Formats: sequence, C-alpha cells, structure tokens
Amino acid sequence: MRRKLAAGNWKMNGLAADLAELEKMAAAKPSPSVDTAICGPATLVHRMAALGWPVGGEDCHAAASGAHTGDISAEMLADAGATYVITGHSERRADHGETDADVNAKTQAAWRAGLTAILCIGETEAEYRAGDTLDVLHRQMAGSMPEGCTGANTVLAYEPVWAIGTGLTPTSDEIGAVHNALRDALIERFGTEAGLAIRILYGGSVKASNAAEIFGIADVDGALVGGASLKAVDFLPIVDALEAAD
Ligand code: PEP
Repeated sequence: MRRKLAAGNWKMNGLAADLAELEKMAAAKPSPSVDTAICGPATLVHRMAALGWPVGGEDCHAAASGAHTGDISAEMLADAGATYVITGHSERRADHGETDADVNAKTQAAWRAGLTAILCIGETEAEYRAGDTLDVLHRQMAGSMPEGCTGANTVLAYEPVWAIGTGLTPTSDEIGAVHNALRDALIERFGTEAGLAIRILYGGSVKASNAAEIFGIADVDGALVGGASLKAVDFLPIVDALEAAD
C-alpha cells in the first residue's frame, strides 16, 4: 500500500556536466514499481526536471516570495519542475541553525506549492550514545511536522546524523526499532489512515552493498541517499534493491 521511494540528495554538488548522470538514470529507469527522485541544487533543478526524472529541491524558504536575498521558495522549485523538497536536513539544521519551528514552516510552504516534503529527523552521535534517540525523534516530530501530514504531502526520513556521510549505519535491529516507533507515533498523531500512509525512509550511508539488508527491514519504505546518488552506477543498484524488496 505504501509505494517505496528511493530519493537522492546531491547536496552542494552538481554542475551542468553532471546532468549526464541523471540522463543515465532516466534512460535506465524510472521503475514501474517504486518511486524515484533526485533532490538537486537549485541551479540545476530546471534542467534536471527536463530530463524526465522526478526532481526535488534541497531546501525552501517558508515565504512564497519577498525580500530574502539568496533564498528560494517552494513555489520557485515547483515552477522549475520539482515535485519534492527536502525540509529539515541535519546539514541545514546544523549549518543554518534551522529549528523545528523553521522546518515546520518550510514543510507547510512545500505543501502550499504542491510539493511533497521529505522531512528529515535524526539524532546526533552524542544523543545516540546517551540512549536518547527516540526522545529526540519524538521531539523533532512534534515540532517539525505540521498538523495535516498525509501520505501524499509528506515523507518522513529518519537520518541519524552520525550515519550521514560516515560509512557508519545503525544495526538492522536498531533501524527496525526506530522505524517501528516512528510508525506508532505517526498513527497516534495523524490517525490510522495517514499514519499508515506516510512513508518512512532511512538515510545515512546507504549504498549498493547494504541497501538490500536495509530495505528488508519492516517499516523501511525506501531511502534518502546522499553520496551514492551522485553517480548512476551507484544509485541504480539501490533502486534495483528497492524493487527487489517490494
Ligand atoms: C543525506 O545527506 O541525506 C545522506 C543520507 O547522505 P549519505 O547517504 O551520503 O550518508
């Protein structure tokens, strides 16, 4: 009932020459059985969308327009052809001091523009070591997720901060326990229908070699992939693993 999603995050990477990687992905896929998307830098979103592969932005401002030099609105991303936008990525929270309230407002902005928000939450290494993971995630969910989240407007991405770009991942049991707790929390907050429909992605050092194991975990509905989404040769096997797990 939940369609699986493999979403990439190019971060601050990607020049015009790198569109060739998306061309390769678009030539090989999209898959009929799972959803795919690449969230790319704002400078490339329009050209990425033209290649026929679903595209997202990596961040948006809460306002639709105005005096916010250097920012980009959800409406601008939609106008450029995006259908997704990442909100609350830990690099935005850390580098730009984004709070749960900011992420909440950006997520509502995404909806206003007709975009699906890929809303990220995750604990730091210190919080993980202190055994505070679920407390942190519940707090981030409460603050970051607006009322009215549905399976259509929001994808939740669990991304342990200490697993992003490090090659480290939680154990399968740990990922399973967290996703199970997140599912329960979604149902409690948004009701059974929406709570069961909202996809929960795992993110943090997903690559071809660990994708099948991670996608075999209950309540893992796909992945948000950073480094391994930059090249078609790395990302397409992850999509294959997701299809196989479907
Ligand atoms: C990310 O940036 O969302 C991410 C999961 O990165 P990586 O896959 O490189 O760990």
